[in-house]
Amino acid sequence: MTANNHSSQSLLKREATCSLPTEWGKFTMVGYTELANNKDHVALYMGDITTPEPVLLRVHSECLTGDAFFSQKCDCGPQLEAAFKMIQAEGRGVIIYLRQEGRGIGLINKIKAYHLQDQGLDTVEANLALHLPIDARNFQLAKDILDDLNINEVKLMTNNPNKIDTLKDSGINVVERIPVIIETNPNNEKYIQTKKNKLHHLFDD
Ligand SMILES: [Zn+2]
Repeated sequence: MTANNHSSQSLLKREATCSLPTEWGKFTMVGYTELANNKDHVALYMGDITTPEPVLLRVHSECLTGDAFFSQKCDCGPQLEAAFKMIQAEGRGVIIYLRQEGRGIGLINKIKAYHLQDQGLDTVEANLALHLPIDARNFQLAKDILDDLNINEVKLMTNNPNKIDTLKDSGINVVERIPVIIETNPNNEKYIQTKKNKLHHLFDD
C-alpha cells in the first residue's frame, strides 16, 4: 500500500471476520459497517491476496431479487455465480458485496421501478419516471475495502466499462477487465439490451 492511496479517511469500519465454505470453495468473509449510515457490506476472499500480483475482483452491488430469489429480470445472480467460479478456478480472488440495492435506490424504489417496467418502461426510463438517479452507487466503499485488504492492483470481472472508470476515479488500480459471460433468458433480454444500448455495457460473445 502506498501513501497516496490514503487521500481520505475510510467510510468503513472493519468489524468481524470468519471462514465461509461455499459451493465454490472456502472463502474468508470480512464484515464492515459504513460509518455514515450503519449499512453493512462484506468482502469474500480466497487464496493469498497479500502477494503483489493483481487480484481477481468482482465488485457486486446487492440485488436481492437476482442474488437470492433467482429473478430472471436481471443478470446479477448469474454474474455473481460466474465470479465465484472464476475465483475458484484461479484459487485467488475477492468479491466485494456492497449493500446498494437497485443501483443504490433501495429495495422499495426498485420494486416501484419494476412495476413501471411491467408497464413497458425500460430500467433507465423507470428510474427517471420516479425521479430517481439511474445510478446512485458509491464505489469509494470498494476502494476502502481494498485498502483495508492491502490490495493495490486488480483484474476486474465486469461487463461495464463505466465501472472501470468509476473505480479508477475512486483510486483503484484496474489493470485488466475480465468479461463475465452469462446466458440471457426471455425475461432479461430487454434489460440486457438496455444495459448494452443506454448504459454502454459490453457483452462479448
Ligand atoms: Zn439484479
